[in-house]
Amino acid sequence: MRTCDICGMKEGRYKCPVCGRFVCEDDFDFEKNMCIACASARCEICGKNLAIGYCRICGRIGCEECLVEESPVSYICIDCARKFGIGIKPRKYRLGV
Ligand SMILES: [Zn+2]
Ligand SMILES: [Zn+2]
Ligand SMILES: [Zn+2]
Ligand SMILES: [Zn+2]
Repeated sequence: MRTCDICGMKEGRYKCPVCGRFVCEDDFDFEKNMCIACASARCEICGKNLAIGYCRICGRIGCEECLVEESPVSYICIDCARKFGIGIKPRKYRLGV
């Protein structure tokens, strides 16, 4: 039996299509179809892109498209920005200043 590459305890039954690691059911995110290590590096908002940082308010990690830059060192997600009426646009749409 092959042990899980993440916890090293249980049987690594599932192969992550992203990193190729074999992981147990506890360490596989079935919804996202990838291991938790890969899932945790992915944007929690769109689930598609690689996360670049986390939201200062809700703590979710997000990608370039889902986070807005509040200051050079902190981000807030688009959901929180909307909720709190913070009118900053996603980095992607920001025009060169
Ligand atoms: Zn495991
Ligand atoms: Zn993986
Ligand atoms: Zn995203
Ligand atoms: Zn947020």
